[in-house]
Amino acid sequence: MDFGFDPEQEQFRDAVRGFAERHLAAGALVRAHAEDYPQDVARQMAEQGLFGIAMSEERGGQGGSLLDSIIAIEQVAAVCPRSADVIQAGNFGAIRTLAEYASVDQRERYLEPLLAGEMLIAVGMTEPEAGSAVTDLVTTASADGAGYRINGTKVFTTYGWHADVILAYVRFGPGVGGIGSVLIDKGADGFTHGQPVRFLSGDDWAQLYFDNVYVPPENVLLGPGGFKRQIAGFNVERIGNTARSLALGRYAFEVARAWALERKQFGRALCEFQGIQWKFAEMQMQLDAAQLLLYRCAASADKGLPSAQQTAIAKAFCNRVGHEVASEALQVMGGAGYSQDSLVEYCFRRTRGWMIAGGSIEILKNRIAEGVFERRFTQRPPRA
Ligand SMILES: Cc1cc2nc3c(=O)[nH]c(=O)nc-3n(C[C@H](O)[C@H](O)[C@H](O)COP(=O)(O)OP(=O)(O)OC[C@H]3O[C@@H](n4cnc5c(N)ncnc54)[C@H](O)[C@@H]3O)c2cc1C
Repeated sequence: MDFGFDPEQEQFRDAVRGFAERHLAAGALVRAHAEDYPQDVARQMAEQGLFGIAMSEERGGQGGSLLDSIIAIEQVAAVCPRSADVIQAGNFGAIRTLAEYASVDQRERYLEPLLAGEMLIAVGMTEPEAGSAVTDLVTTASADGAGYRINGTKVFTTYGWHADVILAYVRFGPGVGGIGSVLIDKGADGFTHGQPVRFLSGDDWAQLYFDNVYVPPENVLLGPGGFKRQIAGFNVERIGNTARSLALGRYAFEVARAWALERKQFGRALCEFQGIQWKFAEMQMQLDAAQLLLYRCAASADKGLPSAQQTAIAKAFCNRVGHEVASEALQVMGGAGYSQDSLVEYCFRRTRGWMIAGGSIEILKNRIAEGVFERRFTQRPPRA
């Protein structure tokens, strides 16, 4: 067992860090508070080969591993936390599910511009009455000639109303087996959105309405029966969310560590108080344990998709640790940590959302318990 990176991974890590320091450090604070998705950063990263890191070269990717894309998140987040979202968008999110299952035509029309940082894709799963119980979704895809008519509403879609295309989970028929997914272009007839609302993180979302939107057959990604494969791709998205939680916690930790070395009260540096030292000892233990779970999950998934169980364990733990560490770091910095001229309060707000998004901690624990007992526990009420 080897806990270190190999020379190639070290080289990649240093190269990404160098890129981040040269191109992303200066605007990091402004970027964290900007409303729009940083498309300029996306283009730069794409040029640098930081998109599609773990996708095969045949599909336009870099032929690397899931661990490589995590290294990219970590190195970018250490310099500019917000830009880690761009690594997510170019490697872990809907783009990854698309790369996995897209037809040749879909690759040309969507994957190529996405990998070039010229397009943005969002994933619409959640609905007003289908959150944790996502298989309760009621957005329908009804046959119309060779294509489909989509009717329904999506909520909480990250970048939903900014994105050029939505990867929408839809129902072709009853039950889990009736669920699949389609690609819906921005500007399609009948596709509108409601008033934008802000999350605690500062990101906004808007209800997405599909009113008889026509989807041609070539825009079906996964037809009926595609749900399980869709979720297998979604586990990669979860790993990106996991890595960002941990990376933002670590960012806050590093800022607070530097602060504790410099800031003096009662004539002594903060790091000389035992009460403060113990906070850092706790944070260090949490970060190390979370890091190992994340790397274990990625290392055993390198050639394919991560296991659902290891993903659930890593995500639940890293989500919690990322937020708890950001919170403690903020506490150590007092008013300076709570203020918007440092990125620590941003990390605190941002890490909170990932405890809910992409499978809440509670839902992940349900999944973990199923692994422990090697049986399924239905969350549904018993049938009469
Ligand atoms: C920052 C952010 C970004 C998001 N981005 C997207 C996106 O891009 N695309 C998208 O489709 N969705 C997105 N979502 C939505 C997200 O997937 C849902 O919020 C999540 O699945 C929970 O659904 P809900 O909010 O409806 O909560 P509910 O399902 O109503 O749950 C409420 C609470 O009850 C708990 N709970 C529910 N069922 C159980 C159970 N069986 N056992 C124990 N506890 C349970 C939940 O854990 C939660 O704490 C995002 C959400 C956030 C916060």
